[in-house]
Amino acid sequence: MNHPRWRCRECGERLYEHIEGDYQCVNCGRRYDPEQLDENAT
Ligand SMILES: [Zn+2]
Repeated sequence: MNHPRWRCRECGERLYEHIEGDYQCVNCGRRYDPEQLDENAT
């Protein structure tokens, strides 16, 4: 499954896939649930 290049809603920085399966902003450290991001992508 290819994942889109999500961006942080706080600062706009790119999100990186975390080892635990969620996504994390490298700039502010905010974590995002991929399912949550999917819902808001469309
Ligand atoms: Zn951020």
